Order: sequence, then C-alpha cells, then structure tokens
Amino acid sequence: MKKHSRVYAAVDMDAIAENFRQMRENINRDTKMIAVIKTDGYGHGAIPIARMAEQYDYIWGYAVATAEEALEIKKAGLLKPVLILGYTFEEDYARLVRHQIRPVVFKLSTAGKLSEEACRQNKVLPIHLGLDTGMSRIGFPDTAESIDIIRKITQMPGIVIEGIFTHFARADESDKTNARKQLVRYLEFTGKLEEMGIHIPVRHCSNSAGILEMREANLDAVRAGITIYGIYPSEEVSRESLPLMPAMELKSHIVYIKELEEGVPVSYGGTFVTSRRTAVATIPVGYGDGYPRSLSNRGWVLIHGKKAPILGRVCMDQFMVDVTDIPEAGELDEVTLMGRDGEEFLSVDTLAKLSGRFPYEFVCDIGKRVPRVYYQDGRAVFDRI
Ligand SMILES: *Cc1c(COP(=O)(O)O)cnc(C)c1O
Repeated sequence: MKKHSRVYAAVDMDAIAENFRQMRENINRDTKMIAVIKTDGYGHGAIPIARMAEQYDYIWGYAVATAEEALEIKKAGLLKPVLILGYTFEEDYARLVRHQIRPVVFKLSTAGKLSEEACRQNKVLPIHLGLDTGMSRIGFPDTAESIDIIRKITQMPGIVIEGIFTHFARADESDKTNARKQLVRYLEFTGKLEEMGIHIPVRHCSNSAGILEMREANLDAVRAGITIYGIYPSEEVSRESLPLMPAMELKSHIVYIKELEEGVPVSYGGTFVTSRRTAVATIPVGYGDGYPRSLSNRGWVLIHGKKAPILGRVCMDQFMVDVTDIPEAGELDEVTLMGRDGEEFLSVDTLAKLSGRFPYEFVCDIGKRVPRVYYQDGRAVFDRI
C-alpha cells in the first residue's frame, strides 16, 4: 500500500466493530439496527462500513440521505436493504424500483408515481412512511387526514409499506420530555393504523441518542448514526452507559521548520506576530482538506505527544504551528491533527468546539483530498483514495 505522508484519515475498523457490539448490547434483543452511513459514512467511508455490517444478523440494512448514495451501496454489491432518509426526486424513481431501494414516502402523489413506476417494471417496491412528530422536516403530519392517505397507499399496486419512522429533534438533550412526547405521538399514530388493520413490520424512531438513553424507543429497529463512528451525539448524553471508541484519526507530517526572530508575522493577514524567537513548522494540510480555517490562531496539533499551537491563519493547503517548545520536532516527523499521540488525545469534540463546529460536521467535512486508510488489528489493511 502506498504511503500517504501528506495527510490521511486512519479509520479503525476494530473501533467500529466494537461500537456496533456495544450498541447491540444496549438495545432489546429483538430490535434490529439500521446503520446510517450517509455522507460517505460521516466521512469514514460508507462501503467499508457496510461491508462490515453485512455480516451482522442484527443489522437490518443501511440508511443514506440521497439516491446517489443508495446506488453506490447497491453498486458495491451489498445485499441488505437500503433506505433513503431524505427526499428522492422523480428522476430517480425508475432506479429505486430497479434496485429495490426504499424511499421515504410522505405524500399521496409520491406514492402514486412510485406505484406506477413499479407496475411499469412489473415489480413491487417496499417503501417507508415518514411521520413528522415534532421535527417539522419531511414527513406526514400525525393527523386523521394522513391516516386516510396512508389507507389509500396500502391499496396501491406495486408498492408495499415496509416501515414507518419518525425522527427525534431533541433526544440528545438530558431532559427527554420532548423526545418522549414525539415517541407518544408516533405510537398513537401507528396504534391507530394498527386498529385499522394496517400493520407495518418495521417501526423505527430512535437515532444514536435514543439508542444511548431511550430504551423505550427501541421498537422494531433503531437507526444508529454518529455512534457507529465512536462519537457521542452531544455533550449532554451520558458517556457511562455505552463506551464508544472514536474511529477516525487525522495524520500528517511536518514539511519544513524555520526559526523566526521576534516580531515576524505568520501567514495571510499577519494575524499572528512572533513575540519571541520561534520555531515554526509548516503542515501541508488546509481548509481544502476540510481542516477548518476557523482553527486559525486557536487550534493545535500534536507532535511527539505534545501540543503545537496553530500560528496565524489556516490556508487552503498549509498551516503553521509553533514547535519552539518541542525541540525534538524535525522535518517529516508525524503530526496528529486529530486522535492520539502518546499521552495526549485530541478529540473531535475538542476540535469541533475550537472551530465553532458540530462534531458531526467536522468528520463529514474531511475532504475528498484526504485518503482513508483502514486499520484492523493495529495494521493498515487497505486504503481508499
Ligand atoms: C441522520 C439521521 C439519523 C442518524 O442520526 P444520528 O444522530 O447520527 O444517530 C437517523 N435518522 C434520520 C432520519 C437521520 O436523518
């Protein structure tokens, strides 16, 4: 395998396997898990993670956000069902039917068109209904009128309602009042459908936060997202119940070290000026790689297990750090932008906070220019450029 000295994201498949195992332990035995691998598996790589998930019986299938993402999973030859959580445009309906990709349906007209397309192809497409219980995003409102529409959908040829789901807006808060209200609304609605003889086999509403702290919301399946990757959905959820292992590290190497006198500006805009003789190391990574510019003059990296603060602005492809207090630092030495180096650990939570971002956003934004290198049993096993 090629070396990726400039920068790479190391993805620890053992950590991901362990996170799946931990979540499995925390949910009911008969509750299945849907692996949410949208945005290329939150930046970690959707396909390698799906390949791993494919072997677990308790994983029902995969959830993505777009038709393109769903088709990627299908093209990779994965066999478990794929569900699209976001809206699918009509131009993709034929491909959904052909590949049995489950869309979320929340309008009568969509169901009608999907039904027509399925009949045209002489196929049956399983669909999931989206129910809005408080997120105010896509989804049927939980009204009597929606029940009528759903009844009509059950009578359409070529489509079959396989699932019904809702999404929590505030399950990641310590106070679960709001999430519980959503759960009650969801259960009331699905209860009414049951009374009318409409039994939907895959009822799911929990996200990661629900998996961690709302066992009562397990139902037929749960949707695991951020926790797969070893990241907690918020600072408010308890770390105790479920120990997660962060799966991604970001590594680079020093390309140049120079000594600057006192009073010398560093990087665009001269926003940092040395206040002493300073050893400055250049790191060949920038916001073009998804390393946020908002870390300018705020963030730090780890070199030889020590913190090296960022000096001045992060550029598109490079940034500078202070290595004056790390005299052993040399050119081509390893730099940890995220992850562990010796005793120090620079977490995605810390980086997100420093850069004014959300941890989800931080990993999703690690760019295409950053190769992913996959580790198993402490060894690099394959990479993806
Ligand atoms: C993204 C998403 C999830 C996963 O959320 P996490 O907080 O990452 O677990 C689950 N359901 C829906 C509808 C989503 O859009």
